[in-house]
Amino acid sequence: MALMRSSSPDDVRSTVRTWQADGLTVGFVPTMGALHEGHLSLIRASVSQCGRTVVSIYVNPAQFGPGEDLERYPRRLEEDCRIAGQNGVDLVFCPSDEVMYPEGFATYVVQEGLTDVLEGESRPTHFRGVLTIVCKLFNAVPADRAYFGQKDFQQTVVIRRMVQDLNLPIAVRVMPTVREPEGLALSSRSDHLGPEEREQAPCLYRALTEARRLYREGETDPAPLRTAMESIIASAPLARPDYIEIVDRDTLAPVERVTDAAVAVLAVRIGRTRLIDNMPMGEETAEE
Ligand code: AMP
Repeated sequence: MALMRSSSPDDVRSTVRTWQADGLTVGFVPTMGALHEGHLSLIRASVSQCGRTVVSIYVNPAQFGPGEDLERYPRRLEEDCRIAGQNGVDLVFCPSDEVMYPEGFATYVVQEGLTDVLEGESRPTHFRGVLTIVCKLFNAVPADRAYFGQKDFQQTVVIRRMVQDLNLPIAVRVMPTVREPEGLALSSRSDHLGPEEREQAPCLYRALTEARRLYREGETDPAPLRTAMESIIASAPLARPDYIEIVDRDTLAPVERVTDAAVAVLAVRIGRTRLIDNMPMGEETAEE
């Protein structure tokens, strides 16, 4: 099928409903564009598991705080559509700000608790923006399954919570983090790293793998894991940690004992670029 492209939520909804009426399962991959191998892993999962795949490309202003990188966030719609088409996507939904947040827009999705910690503490309005846009996108694209990346671990937890709390009729699938050979998690923001910054950015992955190594060697006290991660980040001169924690994968609360249900999480500034990453202490498995 040739790639379709639409900026109209109503048209996209009726196309998805037509496919479903024909008995096809529809997969949905929400993105902010500048597609890379991380996005492609979600797209490939959807294309292989669903009869039709929709990708949204929308840089959502509501999830950026004042002074964050909304203006310099990369935008490459034409190239993204080409990549989407080559990878089996059936429909790209690329709405405008006027369509998503028209004059008078006043309704937001706010979640308590899970959104107050980690990313939520550093970026107080971020998850309100994420949940609002994801809810709006799920209404425009009433797919059977939605695919998200483990890379944005807290996002997967808060989205699952919203889906459950609001009885949204969609199944959430989470796919493993795709990394560069030295371990840097692929992200649109790593485009901004200069050569020296890029050289130091794998310290996030090294810190996470060291935490997991200590756990697998039998350490179940989170304190030495945190200390080991902190000292690896401190050894990179351009790195400034924002938070470094070992949390429960469901509640996001810091754990008192490390188990397979714990996830090491961190946010680190490398120069002007803020990177996040995480690693489950148990096996990271792609969900079916
Ligand atoms: P974004 O365009 O950054 O909003 O990301 C869109 C989706 O791609 C989100 O579900 C992300 O978690 C996922 N994603 C981004 N980077 C990666 C990666 N390196 N590996 C796996 N998934 C990713």
